Amino acid sequence: MNEEIEILPELEESEDFSNLGLSEEVLRAVLEKGYEKPSPVQAQAIPLVLKGRDIIAASQTGTGKTAAFALPILTLLKQNGPLRCLILEPTRELAQQVEKAFHVYGKYTDLKTTLLHGGVGYGKQCDDLKQGVDIVVATPGRLLDHLGRRTLSLEQVNFLVLDEADRMLDMGFMPDVRRIIGQCAKKRRRSMLFSATLVPEIESVAAWVLHNPFRIAIGGGTATAETVTHAIYPVDERQKFDLLVAILKEIDYRSVIIFCRTKNGADIIARWLENTDHKTAILHSDRSQKERDKAMEGFKSGKVEILVATDIVSRGIDIMEVSHVINYDIPQHREDYVHRIGRTGRMNNEGDAVTLFTASDQDFLKNIEKFIGQKIERIKLDDFDYKWTPILEEVKPQPKRRNRGFSGAISMNLGRKRR
Ligand code: AMP
Repeated sequence: MNEEIEILPELEESEDFSNLGLSEEVLRAVLEKGYEKPSPVQAQAIPLVLKGRDIIAASQTGTGKTAAFALPILTLLKQNGPLRCLILEPTRELAQQVEKAFHVYGKYTDLKTTLLHGGVGYGKQCDDLKQGVDIVVATPGRLLDHLGRRTLSLEQVNFLVLDEADRMLDMGFMPDVRRIIGQCAKKRRRSMLFSATLVPEIESVAAWVLHNPFRIAIGGGTATAETVTHAIYPVDERQKFDLLVAILKEIDYRSVIIFCRTKNGADIIARWLENTDHKTAILHSDRSQKERDKAMEGFKSGKVEILVATDIVSRGIDIMEVSHVINYDIPQHREDYVHRIGRTGRMNNEGDAVTLFTASDQDFLKNIEKFIGQKIERIKLDDFDYKWTPILEEVKPQPKRRNRGFSGAISMNLGRKRR
């Protein structure tokens, strides 16, 4: 581990927002939003960013990381000027969400924030850049296009945020991210790395980005949200879809995300669900931006109760009402498990996560359990006509107990009404 990194102990109790050193304008927006107390990651990160420190912050999903960097940055930027802050996001949906948050938290400042991502025209983006912006929230590909066209310069960027930092620094994004950071100010640049899954190795990978950083670790960096109940449903490969339909019938869901491994798989599952009278929306990277926006809007507004998606929505997407996450396909990357199930149980709400598990998924499951440091409960659905598979043998019989909706063998609260 990098020896320069200082680690903060977790605070016993969060302070009040008004004691953190935020500007009046930012404080007013926060209070108007109805936040009463800073979350632990906010209570730790805000004073450090205000002091000008670089940070690496690991905090469970849905714990208010966006405000943890947005509020102090808006405070420090103070007034309209050149482009000084760059936030990099791995997906368009996340970039949209974070840009919106900057507008909400910055509404009483005259700071300008704009969004740069692919899949849409350049017109509005170029107009915004020409008029002058203080903060850019971007995905790497489109940002590089703009740099190539010289429609913006990063020379004065001295606040850099890598959100979902482990994703931004993985092999796929790293070359683009290096090129982008290479164009930001070097002297006096403050850099911040945020994610729910920051394993210690990331610190050496990120050493070139950071200067003498503080490390904030809330929940250990690999922890699943405490408010999410999760379980594994072993099943024969050929019965996966039937089990999914049976689970959907049993649970008292308000809003559910079903994760599939591939885009094609997501399309097929969505089509099959439509055939079984479930209204669905689909979100993956082969859909047009219009279709992606429509799917997200329909799901967020509650018009559509089921969103079938790939890992494109596994990180960061904040929809308070998601009651259930179903991993139709188990995630192949262990950290995606934490992110996926973190789409429910946000900000201390309760949520349930279900993972279908077949014999060929054994290594993935082992890896996930090692990563989160716990064995996940195996559950067999009563009244489902299982075909035999060796993995079912491992499921211990559950004590019979009534649990709204389920006729017995289940210890999860899948059937409960919440909130
Ligand atoms: P994030 O982890 O940034 O996606 O935030 C998760 C959710 O928590 C968002 O809906 C925020 O609006 C909300 N939130 C952030 N900070 C607070 C806070 N201090 N009190 C209550 N809600 C908050």
